[in-house]
Amino acid sequence: MIRKKDAGQWDLTLLYSSSRSHKLKTDLSSAETRAARFRKKYYGKVATLSVDQLETALHEFEGLQESIVRPQSYAYLLFAADSEKIENKKLSQQAMEFGNRIARELLFFDLELMALPDDRFLELKDNDLLATYRHYLEKLRRYRPYTLPEREESILKEKRLTGVEAFSHLFDELSSSFRYDFLMDGELLELTGEELLGLLHHCDSSVRERAFATFLAKYREQGIVIASIFNNAALDHGQEMEIRGYRSIMEPTHLANEVEPRAVERLMEVSEKNYPLAREYFHLKARLLGVPKLKHTDIYAPLAGINRIYSFESSKNLVLEAFGGFSPVFGAIVEKFFSEERIDAQPRHGKSGGAFCMGISPSLPPFILLNHTGNLRDVATLAHELGHGIHFVLAQKQSMVNYHPPTPLAETASIFGEMLLTRLLLHREADTKQKISILCAAIEDIIATTFRQIVLTRFEERFHAKRKEGLLTAEEICSLWWEENARLYGDSVEMTEPYRWGWSYISHFIHSRFYCYSYAFGELLVLSLFNRYLAEGKSFVPIYLSILESGGSRSPADTVRAAGVDLAEPHFWQEGYDFLRGLINELKRIMEVQQSS
Ligand SMILES: [Zn+2]
Repeated sequence: MIRKKDAGQWDLTLLYSSSRSHKLKTDLSSAETRAARFRKKYYGKVATLSVDQLETALHEFEGLQESIVRPQSYAYLLFAADSEKIENKKLSQQAMEFGNRIARELLFFDLELMALPDDRFLELKDNDLLATYRHYLEKLRRYRPYTLPEREESILKEKRLTGVEAFSHLFDELSSSFRYDFLMDGELLELTGEELLGLLHHCDSSVRERAFATFLAKYREQGIVIASIFNNAALDHGQEMEIRGYRSIMEPTHLANEVEPRAVERLMEVSEKNYPLAREYFHLKARLLGVPKLKHTDIYAPLAGINRIYSFESSKNLVLEAFGGFSPVFGAIVEKFFSEERIDAQPRHGKSGGAFCMGISPSLPPFILLNHTGNLRDVATLAHELGHGIHFVLAQKQSMVNYHPPTPLAETASIFGEMLLTRLLLHREADTKQKISILCAAIEDIIATTFRQIVLTRFEERFHAKRKEGLLTAEEICSLWWEENARLYGDSVEMTEPYRWGWSYISHFIHSRFYCYSYAFGELLVLSLFNRYLAEGKSFVPIYLSILESGGSRSPADTVRAAGVDLAEPHFWQEGYDFLRGLINELKRIMEVQQSS
């Protein structure tokens, strides 16, 4: 067979033969026709449907969603693999507009379901014929008290374009326009922000410090614009809360995440109580780097003499062994990613940076994109994305509306996958230095996804509360940021002056309010599940499989309850930190051995 693609690229012909494929064209046009037909059939009539008719409507609705995501995902994947190819750009834009049109066409359906009278809703929800859709209906229903009449919703939506979305767009455009002059080995380089942040992993501490200072200085220079964007995003949120009647600033996020506010508050409190654990690690890292005290730019510094390179083939073998060792089901799913060529691993010009795994629908396989350059972090990324991939494959037991896991569970399988890899690497590694480096990477990852995210969330909370009282100057925002960071670092890490602007580039604050706690939520949940795996061994495997298989069919609390995990239990979050304590103790033990030898 003649292959047009290089090794290390994915094979998207599983979706369409090419961007000029006839099937792609007909799929795009027939989805629009079907959506129009659906609207004509059900618009204004949802409240009058019998149970049977409603079941048919929901089923049709799911079918429509499935027919939309195939061409949309294909366009997205093509663009991610080569954004410079003009036909990919065009197709991606076309697919975006197509998705937008259909979403507007179908919006009425959710609104009408939400508006059903109480007694009718209860009757439907408890009907076994609609069992598959029970969770979907309940989830929608929770927004009912905060939803306005259709006309007002439509005006709000339209005004967002020139309001908060315009500010958010400005933030993206401004930050991606930044170019930085950076002197490296006597040569003046022009770098992007992404490249500068990458230098936080450089082995020379002065390079790390200079890189981060250069990066943040650009945001400080644009302080008037940045502070205005932050102030307006918070004001907009405050206004919308009042208009819709939300009781607390994080309520919309909790609602979307399907979690109890009390569980989140407890997660934050327990995390703060464990801040000393992070400080203990920072002291150890200072010792490993041979400095009296760590600077905030030293946290992710590589250890001296660590330069092992992994070929893609050896990364592949490692992840196959890590997942296969956990369960043959996992091993088989991972194997298929490679044999069906659903991973694009080769770094190329025009290809998007970073990594992702795209789950499309219950009937189509997921795809993975990453940029494998051969360091240890790349192997971990492969394990991470394959974890997502396993989750997306197992969740294919669900129908379309229940397919995607809720945000707090979205990282469950990916973090678990990384833990499996870390265990395997530690087990196989004989060299003490390498072992220390593997452990440090795992600990730093956990600190970044737990403690740091709690610092971010607390900062965001205080910022919104202050904005209610009036406009904040950039200097005042810097002070809030500084105080929340100081609570974590204490005397274990020195923060230098440029870091006062550390809040200014974090796009989550602008794009997805209070998203950050979800990272901590997911990480601690996984640590606690992993702990159970270590204690229970093979008998834990089917329990874990059933968690992943449930996809988005239940709330996070209901999903993990099946594994005997109770999110309301006060000790639950502490168990995650106890696991981290175990890793830090292990690191200390190895460091002592190294010292005495
Ligand atoms: Zn992930």
